[in-house]
Amino acid sequence: MADIAVIGGGAAGAAAFGELLSRFDGGTVHWIVGQHAPGRGVAYGTSDDQHLLNVRASAMGVFQEHAEDFIQHAARQLGQVKGTDFLPRRLFGDFIQAQVGARIDAARRAGRSFRIHPQSAREVVSRGPGGYAVRVGADRWLEVGEVVLAVGALAQRPLRSVSTTALAGGAYELDPWRLDRHPQSPRRVMVIGTGLTAVDTLLSAAIRWPHAELVAVSRHGLLPFTHAALPLTPYARQEELNRALLASEGTAAMFRHVRAAMSDAGDAEWRSIIDGMRPVNAQLWQQLSHPRRRQFLRHARWVWEAARHRMAPATGEAIYQLQEEGRLQVLAARVLDVDGTAPLQVTLRERSTQLVSALEADLVIQATGLDTAVAYGAHDLLSQLLRDGLAVADPLQLGVLARPDGQLTDGEGKPVPGLHAIGSLLRGNLWECTAMPEIRVAAHRLAVRLSQQSPVSRESASELP
Ligand SMILES: Cc1cc2nc3c(=O)[nH]c(=O)nc-3n(C[C@H](O)[C@H](O)[C@H](O)COP(=O)(O)OP(=O)(O)OC[C@H]3O[C@@H](n4cnc5c(N)ncnc54)[C@H](O)[C@@H]3O)c2cc1C
Repeated sequence: MADIAVIGGGAAGAAAFGELLSRFDGGTVHWIVGQHAPGRGVAYGTSDDQHLLNVRASAMGVFQEHAEDFIQHAARQLGQVKGTDFLPRRLFGDFIQAQVGARIDAARRAGRSFRIHPQSAREVVSRGPGGYAVRVGADRWLEVGEVVLAVGALAQRPLRSVSTTALAGGAYELDPWRLDRHPQSPRRVMVIGTGLTAVDTLLSAAIRWPHAELVAVSRHGLLPFTHAALPLTPYARQEELNRALLASEGTAAMFRHVRAAMSDAGDAEWRSIIDGMRPVNAQLWQQLSHPRRRQFLRHARWVWEAARHRMAPATGEAIYQLQEEGRLQVLAARVLDVDGTAPLQVTLRERSTQLVSALEADLVIQATGLDTAVAYGAHDLLSQLLRDGLAVADPLQLGVLARPDGQLTDGEGKPVPGLHAIGSLLRGNLWECTAMPEIRVAAHRLAVRLSQQSPVSRESASELP
């Protein structure tokens, strides 16, 4: 076997690296983590304890098997912790780092070979059947047999409606996690987006600028729904529903089945039904043709995201309180234009009336969610992979073409030997692959596959039809 490079220092990279450390002994495992604290990535790099996990503590984990589970780990810092709690994301970042640390110690004791590189991977060049050369930092090259891309979502691109003047002026923020770049106290802060990232941004802004008026705007103005405080009764006929969903043709038929189940839910409620679909969501997505996927993205994604990716109850309470106090206004409107300097002039078309109006905001923060449009993003490595034909963009801009197990494919669906992805780059194939419950299963399976693979099977993979 040959060496393996895992590229990306977030939670998905940590999961893949840790799983490989405990089973791959055919060469060196390289983890190329970039400049940030390894293991935390975007989600778990926050230091704000208002930013809560949106998954209960009992379901959070980075590996299939842990040296200690997340609840025990959190209890050492917080005292009593229940598996049903929604804990601060910072704690989960600490947990990832501790778990990866434990795997590193075990790998050292077992004499396994690994390297952690605190630089970015700049280029991946094919060496034919021998594998790949990966350029790390300015000029170091690693020769590896397999590459795992765990680079997360792309940095946000400005919306088309934002003028260059607005972008240059410094009052339009593309990174919702960098409010610290704005020392002045704004009178009005506008957040574009109303999903989970927008909600965290609003909570941080409310504390940071207690006198600022907050406005959140998205086309439908729908905030995420909240989780119930305690786990809900499962829907008694969930299996039947899932079978019916798998057998149905198209999104309209699926929605009919879900609506019928909701009116027949008995003691269960809609949230249990949505959660109970989790095991079949990837399959449902894969069954949809491209036009139907496009239709879903255009017409149903907004409500699906709000129902499926819900806020922790405490997060919901804090947001509703801001609304009740009149500090936060949530608008359903399209952003037509953002121009000017400070204050920025934002032109909106209200959804219900179609009336156009203008609002001034001293700071506008873009929090429009995961961007996986690799063909348009400014990610040097992904752009190079696309240019060299090693990766192909998903036609709906949901990452790259790949098989369900993460192996990249060309435009005809033929596997690209030795190139794999994990996490949000796989949305085109799996749709739901970005949360830890999915990531840790994917990392485990990938590590098992790569550890069992012989060089012969790797080469012959290139000849698969
Ligand atoms: C705000 C937020 C909250 C979330 N909350 C939850 C939750 O409560 N529960 C849950 O299960 N999931 C949650 N998620 C989902 C989350 O996406 C996953 O849990 C996980 O963090 C994804 O990690 P990742 O490694 O794929 O991506 P990222 O966190 O984006 O990490 C990718 C890393 O790769 C680095 N990188 C990129 N290019 C290169 C390169 N060329 N070389 C080296 N490094 C590179 C990036 O700098 C980054 O550090 C949340 C997501 C977000 C954004």
